[in-house]
Amino acid sequence: MFLIIGTKFFTWGGQKTGDMIRCSECGTVAEFTEKTGMRFLTLFFIVPVIPLSGKKKMIECPNCKARFQTE
Ligand SMILES: [Zn+2]
Repeated sequence: MFLIIGTKFFTWGGQKTGDMIRCSECGTVAEFTEKTGMRFLTLFFIVPVIPLSGKKKMIECPNCKARFQTE
């Protein structure tokens, strides 16, 4: 059997930040979406098997979808 192994960055979560933030990419001022993401080793590009990184917190611009990492 032939396995196709790759990596993929998965994100989840969709809470609003509650604060108005200015996007440095497109200049939109809006409530950003808070997301958590992790990079996984995947089988067949879909099935996450092994996490390759720790959880990363980020916020996403609702207009241009640019992501900014937060602490
Ligand atoms: Zn933006």
